[in-house]
Amino acid sequence: MSVDGSVWLNAIGGLADAPAPVRAMLADAVEPLPVPRPQEWLAIHEERGQTFDDFVRAAIRPAVSGRTIYIQPVDAEGALTDTCLSTLAAFTAAFFQLKVRVLPPLVLDPSSLVTRAAPDAGTPQVYAGDILARLYAGKPADAFCVLGITAHDLFPHPIVSFAFGEASVTCRVGVVSVARYGPPFCEDAPGRHPGEMRKRCCRVIAHEIGHMAGIAHCIYFRCLMNGSSSLVESDRRPLHLCPIDLRKLQWLMGFDFAERYSRLQQFWRGAGDDAEAAWAENRLQAAGGPRLAALPAFDSGLTWV
Ligand SMILES: [Zn+2]
Ligand SMILES: [Zn+2]
Repeated sequence: MSVDGSVWLNAIGGLADAPAPVRAMLADAVEPLPVPRPQEWLAIHEERGQTFDDFVRAAIRPAVSGRTIYIQPVDAEGALTDTCLSTLAAFTAAFFQLKVRVLPPLVLDPSSLVTRAAPDAGTPQVYAGDILARLYAGKPADAFCVLGITAHDLFPHPIVSFAFGEASVTCRVGVVSVARYGPPFCEDAPGRHPGEMRKRCCRVIAHEIGHMAGIAHCIYFRCLMNGSSSLVESDRRPLHLCPIDLRKLQWLMGFDFAERYSRLQQFWRGAGDDAEAAWAENRLQAAGGPRLAALPAFDSGLTWV
């Protein structure tokens, strides 16, 4: 399924009221969504799309006292180092412009989890709903959302073979898995960008928190919120939102575009990813140029508790 211009023009809502950086993206930074190949997400899922107006009707802006994203390692020992978690937290803070706190690792009693053998590989899998229930039970009062990161391979439903992540919009809890970013599911070719694992984690984290922010799958452009059925398809998704979903996120969080792009550029430059840093720099210029000099030192609230 592909969409024509009239569809996305309807989806983005009233252009006269759209923030200038969103209109600027429409002019020079939209990427058409290719016609899906067999077995890709849009070839096998019926997605209606979510317009900006749909989103605004349903969205609930976070309260002043509810602007912290909690990242919760869940049975992740050995898969994610503290450095890795703090890097992912820094990205999350820049992307959503909220405070991020990393919670102490959670080790679950295996007997409390529904498990099965993965239909495609025969390796152990955990029912994602069991982890979501546990995260919801311990959700801090000031949480915008809680995102678990686990080394377990996940299944979201008995008839679905696996999920990179799963989130509840209503409860604002979610969990992502890094299990399929390595053997036996993934053997990256030699020469692949050494930061690919980091990008995969950033991509899935931002996608699931995007869902918790109320943003549905995108059918309009190439976008971080495109659905994906495989690692190959997931890897093809950009690490940024299309203008329609960017407008939704900014409406919800109320951030300053230039500040956000400054932080993202800072993050990707620090990570040594020239391509992502250049993309953020390009959008930063379209949003009016750097703001860091005019801002206090970045307080992402990134802390270990
Ligand atoms: Zn999704
Ligand atoms: Zn989108």
